[in-house]
Amino acid sequence: MDRHLIVLSCSATKVEHRDPLPAVTRYDGPYYKVLNSCIRERGWPPSLSIAVLSAEYGLIGGLTQIDGYDRRMDERRATELRERCTETLMKWSATHSSATLVLGRDYLPAINFDAMTSLRTIVPEGPIGMKLQALSNRLHEFRTTRVRRELPARRAGAPLYFLPDWDDLLDADFDFVSDSFSAAERSQRKEQHCIQIMQPRRMCDGVLVSLAQNQGTKGILRRVEPTDLESLAPQSIRTKYGLRDDQWAFGDCGAFSYSSEPEPTISTEQAVSLYHLHGFDLGASVDHIPLPAIEGPNGAKLLTTAERRRRIALTRANAREFLEVWNRRKCSFTPVGIIQGITAQDYARQLPEYVDMGYSFIALGGLVPRSDSDIEEVVRAVAKSRAAFARSRGGDVRLHLFGVFRPKLQATFRECGISSFDSATYFRKAWLRSDQNYLGADGQWYAAVRVPMMSDARTRKRLEASGLSEKTLLRMEKASLEALHEYSAGKVTAGDALAAVHRYDELLSRGDENSGSLYEKYRRTLESKPWQFCGCPVCKQLGIDVLIFRGYNRNKRRGAHNTYQLYRSLREG
Ligand SMILES: [Zn+2]
Repeated sequence: MDRHLIVLSCSATKVEHRDPLPAVTRYDGPYYKVLNSCIRERGWPPSLSIAVLSAEYGLIGGLTQIDGYDRRMDERRATELRERCTETLMKWSATHSSATLVLGRDYLPAINFDAMTSLRTIVPEGPIGMKLQALSNRLHEFRTTRVRRELPARRAGAPLYFLPDWDDLLDADFDFVSDSFSAAERSQRKEQHCIQIMQPRRMCDGVLVSLAQNQGTKGILRRVEPTDLESLAPQSIRTKYGLRDDQWAFGDCGAFSYSSEPEPTISTEQAVSLYHLHGFDLGASVDHIPLPAIEGPNGAKLLTTAERRRRIALTRANAREFLEVWNRRKCSFTPVGIIQGITAQDYARQLPEYVDMGYSFIALGGLVPRSDSDIEEVVRAVAKSRAAFARSRGGDVRLHLFGVFRPKLQATFRECGISSFDSATYFRKAWLRSDQNYLGADGQWYAAVRVPMMSDARTRKRLEASGLSEKTLLRMEKASLEALHEYSAGKVTAGDALAAVHRYDELLSRGDENSGSLYEKYRRTLESKPWQFCGCPVCKQLGIDVLIFRGYNRNKRRGAHNTYQLYRSLREG
């Protein structure tokens, strides 16, 4: 790809904040004002890379998370950084056709321009005003527009459904007949998210991505090294998931991941910055769940009522701060205020306060571990509070329920005007349940047929405990898959296919599971052939393989199919 790099000098003016921030957010000098105003208006151009030449850190990608510091660049420091900076720039030159270096005079000794043989460099000259103009002109050469994607008007009936993402990328060209990946190396495979695999069918109204991934090494928001190519430009959430115009990217902070910590592990400044840079359509404020007990080093620890109340107040204070930062940065994503509570009245009482802060989109958090009746009480109380507020003050507020599907409560949710929810329950049932893995088009659940993988070290060890040789086991594994494929092609009976599966699978002796009844469930699956009655792209492509319990390429595709069926039932129900 023909990428263009812009390198900016660091600035003395910085956003004061205790936690690390992406460099393009941290610096607040004139160059960064021009850059950020351009990104605000037009989005981050897909072919633009931004780097910073910093007196403290040297040459780093613009997305690198940095702490505040106070150090000025001078000739001596620049000369000191010269070797390392030149090396980094040469590394980046492999993927960039040209670079514009908008640098103060003191910064220039940090780059050995004679070494830049393969990179066309442009160095705007003159006083700062001219450099700012050159930067602005360069940025405007990128053809891009930011589209603000508003949600459809709230309507009676089906709430919008968001699929929470767990980095569910699949090998788009996995070969189900030979049971092999399209390439040995993951980087050589064409990887697609379940949402893309399911296209042109729609399985959700959008995706919910948690910023908690930023703490880890996986996912779109993982931390990157300062000179990695990924640190030069944010990956667009919408592009990663292949979202259509009528699907939305919703971000939250993943509060369950830090619920055992005294404070949230992400700050409001960080959250706003990440939602903004990665092009989210909706971003939720930073909450902290007032759980009755948390996991400690010595087992579960009860939280005092005072501590739980503190978390509710902290969540509210964060929501207020979130809007302030959102306003200051003039962000274009829709801000979503999260309410936490212990009782139903806690949630209901806070709603008018959130609306007064300026929220027209409010989400209820912390409901996941609660019973259906608890959730119903909360939802009814909040809906009542919203109606009372609307009667006295007007306006309309959307309500989102985090992590809650609850089939039995769907009628209540409609009645109470819930606008959206997210849940991965049906997706994950595909492999977490032993016998309800596939939701048929007839509304019935079916068991997926297990064919254990010899390539899995633990399974292999258990199979080898049977005393059979590796060669024999591999042959039985292959025979099971072949028998299922032959059954689907009408060449053998269900009984024959089941016998091959049974011979191999029973070697695992699943302990307390009632294996006899499981095989009866397999028989029901095979005889009913539910894969023939679903029109989704996964079932059409995989056929019987969507009902084979084996490896993430089959299991997560089955999860995608379940989600598609859930989505269909929500639209029709
Ligand atoms: Zn299907």
